[in-house]
Amino acid sequence: MTRYCKSITSYARRATREVSVGAHRMGAQNPVVVQTMTNTLTTDTDASVAQIGRIAAAGGRIVRLTTPNEKDALNLGPIGERVHKEWPDVALVADVHFLPAVAAVAATTADKVRINPGNYNDRGGRFEELIELCRERGVALRIGVNHGSLAKKIFDLYGDTPEGMAASAMEFLRRCRELDFHNVVVSLKSSNVRVMVYAYRLLVRAMNEEGMDYPVHLGVTEAGNHIEGRVKSAVGIGALLADGIGDTIRVSLTEAPENEIPAAQSLVVHYEGRSGVEFPTVDESRFSPYEYQPRPWGKTPTLWSELSEENRSEYNVVEATSDMPVQEWRSRLLGSEVTPNKPIILRRRYTTANFEQFAIEAAADFGVMFIDSLADGVDIINPNFSQEQIDEVALLILQAARVRISRTEYIACPSCGRTLYDIESTLAAIKARTSHLVGLKIGVMGCIVNGPGEMADADYGYVGGLPGRISLYRGKNLVERNVPQEEAIEHLIEIIKADGRWTEPK
Ligand code: SF4
Repeated sequence: MTRYCKSITSYARRATREVSVGAHRMGAQNPVVVQTMTNTLTTDTDASVAQIGRIAAAGGRIVRLTTPNEKDALNLGPIGERVHKEWPDVALVADVHFLPAVAAVAATTADKVRINPGNYNDRGGRFEELIELCRERGVALRIGVNHGSLAKKIFDLYGDTPEGMAASAMEFLRRCRELDFHNVVVSLKSSNVRVMVYAYRLLVRAMNEEGMDYPVHLGVTEAGNHIEGRVKSAVGIGALLADGIGDTIRVSLTEAPENEIPAAQSLVVHYEGRSGVEFPTVDESRFSPYEYQPRPWGKTPTLWSELSEENRSEYNVVEATSDMPVQEWRSRLLGSEVTPNKPIILRRRYTTANFEQFAIEAAADFGVMFIDSLADGVDIINPNFSQEQIDEVALLILQAARVRISRTEYIACPSCGRTLYDIESTLAAIKARTSHLVGLKIGVMGCIVNGPGEMADADYGYVGGLPGRISLYRGKNLVERNVPQEEAIEHLIEIIKADGRWTEPK
């Protein structure tokens, strides 16, 4: 059977080919590269170069810029000249969402071009033309599939499923291979962490089956901000890095882009120097890596701190002490060590004194265990923080894995040159009014071009329509178009009230 990784009870990085992105090498034995994206107007050279400077100072070496039209793509030329002079090892990536003509221009100015394959179907010859342009200048290509914008023919065949995402990427990887073009990286992003993890595993399995070794770019889209955004990204990206998958990562936050760099670096460091111990192998028939299987007990996952002494005895407590907790837990839980008729609490001790880093480490270790439905509760120990702080991290991990919903979920885009309002302050204002609506998913998206598609399964959407104007959505349906921004939050609340889903804050 071809699998997504060699073993689920030992760690090894997936063998990938080396790809050049400007002065950078990624894949093969190169360290996992951290990247981010500007949120300036790409036509504003000074502002973009200044922001790239702040990203470079934070340690970011691959920077993506949005290129909605040819003017933006062309301006990567002058931006690149100034950037490469000052920071020769910073590579620039053009983010092309829609138009093949823009990608063709970007291939003449950028170090790498990201395309969404959803926009290349049925446009004869455009993809081949792009490949030739990339080949000429040694430009890398990212096949960047997004959960919210699959091509119609893929959607009709698979729906918006992990299988559809993997199939969409594979179609274009095969076309690259037929054209003998291999400077390719691939990504499959979603704001739904479970979908994202299953999609990447399916993709890697499919690449293994067809003998492909293209590097993989990991990211969770619209993760939000603060600890919440970091935990959500760490659960998704960590689930894959734990199995050695991932050559470059982006922790996408609704904050200044340079803030993404230390968060991504904390994740990368967490997996460096793994011992590679082989834990006893297990019967994998109980392991479901591509589809969620509910736990047999039907209980909502618990925190150890919530249980009485008496209730604690109803659980097995399994503490991971090695530097590979995921493999260690899998080996013990799927092996014969644990009493099978008792629910399981996972325990791990941390000593990290930096709260953000601690949250990222715990999310990376615990999250995947709940995505794979292998446990029923969490006991995180860190003497540097209060039980309340630790419980907050634990609940965010369970929420990101979608097994226990304890708060409102915000699907907020990181913003980019297309953003039509100040997304950080708006997200804060929306949170201030709606954070008591436990279980509701609210999309807060910067633009109408990509926002509605990418807010995935949000119940409501607040989307930039025109400058100073907001469009409001119920699910995927537009309810009010271009409401003045000052009134938009009130209108959103009215829509939630009309649906009977509003409660007054306590
Ligand atoms: S939703 Fe629009 S504004 Fe937000 S990151 Fe995506 S393209 Fe940029």
